[in-house]
Amino acid sequence: MITDIENCYGCKACEQVCPVKCISMKTDGEGFLYPETDESLCTGCNMCNRVCPMTKDLFSEEPQSFFCFINKEKNEIKKSSSGGAFSALSRGFCDTAKLKVFGAKWDKDLSVCHEYAESLNGINVFRKSKYIQSDTRNTFSIAREFLDKGETVVYSGTPCQIAGLKGFLGKDYDKLLTIDVICHGVPSQYVFDKYVKSIEEENKSKVESFSFRNRRSVFGVRDSQCVKIKLSDGREIKRFSFKDTYIRGYYARLYYRKCCYGCKFARRQRVSDITIGDFWGIDRLDKKLNPHNGVSLIIASSEKGRKLIEKLSAAHRVKRVSEEDAVRLNKNLYRPPDYNLNRSIFFERLANTGFNTAVNGFIPRISKVKYIVSNVLPENIKRILKAGEE
Ligand SMILES: Cc1cc2nc3c(=O)[nH]c(=O)nc-3n(C[C@H](O)[C@H](O)[C@H](O)COP(=O)(O)OP(=O)(O)OC[C@H]3O[C@@H](n4cnc5c(N)ncnc54)[C@H](O)[C@@H]3O)c2cc1C
Repeated sequence: MITDIENCYGCKACEQVCPVKCISMKTDGEGFLYPETDESLCTGCNMCNRVCPMTKDLFSEEPQSFFCFINKEKNEIKKSSSGGAFSALSRGFCDTAKLKVFGAKWDKDLSVCHEYAESLNGINVFRKSKYIQSDTRNTFSIAREFLDKGETVVYSGTPCQIAGLKGFLGKDYDKLLTIDVICHGVPSQYVFDKYVKSIEEENKSKVESFSFRNRRSVFGVRDSQCVKIKLSDGREIKRFSFKDTYIRGYYARLYYRKCCYGCKFARRQRVSDITIGDFWGIDRLDKKLNPHNGVSLIIASSEKGRKLIEKLSAAHRVKRVSEEDAVRLNKNLYRPPDYNLNRSIFFERLANTGFNTAVNGFIPRISKVKYIVSNVLPENIKRILKAGEE
């Protein structure tokens, strides 16, 4: 029986490993999944606690290497959140005839879950970040079945999901490549559903599809975090990140899962072979590059990961960078997000009202001018202005 529910990451490793299937995941009042044990069936084998990412220390102790990465296919960058690292890494590791790539996709009703793809086209659905906690369902068990048959598997997800997978597998597999994303924190499906409902009410039309991380320019300043919404009446809504309440609430850290605020995986040592994220600050190292146009940061934390990047460097734009340059502007790489003191009031409000009313007053308003200015000014000037505000 799981002993520490409060800090649970919701990865489902316990549910999947339980030999008597006495653990099931139940949604709490905030919409996050937590394990519940049927004590009448539990045999006390303790497998659930043994595989749990909270109880295990799975960080790689191998030396790390840091890279700036840009996919050679412009079209792939366009369909990806950052520099298209995920697609290139998956393709580079798998023999395409036997491709088994796991990632997070949009499912029906705009829910987000893990799934596997067996073709290169199939991995398209995993592209682009979905800022919602993905339901891993029974994918750890499926991945183990493939691995035990000797197949090659790529599994991508948040660091806690990779830790859950590794705990569940309990041993290393040469043919497994794990990829984690640098993670801010994850909101629940329930929060996202409420936000979608608010869009539907405003527009009197159903939301057919949704995507985060689209690129647009405002007076020449790039925004790579725009949302794109397709409505069932044929209209398409595109919003800059500074105009969208969900994105603003996300970056204000208002509604992450509780464990995210103390996430033990938000640190430089990683659990995966490869970590991918946005290369914020690449423009300081190379003035010709703009992180909003799609530049990935890759961290290799194993020999397997390093060899794969070496292989990719023949075809893609890959440059080794120092650890300091890689992490300087990506603080989610080395510490968990600060707790937002309005979080519990937000969830209390959300239970009784719509999304827009619940976030009202809790997220800073950002005007177009402020967005442009903050993206045009050099970092040192921004720091001076910020110091003046404090
Ligand atoms: C919740 C979340 C928070 C993030 N926070 C940061 C951050 O603070 N700093 C930073 O530099 N980068 C962050 N990223 C990573 C970044 O947004 C890109 O996903 C990453 O750089 C990969 O880009 P790409 O172009 O290589 O891949 P893409 O082709 O865009 O592939 C996206 C990858 O993300 C995975 N993914 C998408 N949504 C989810 C999800 N909900 N749960 C688990 N896996 C998912 C897919 O399986 C796939 O592997 C975050 C991603 C997510 C999902």
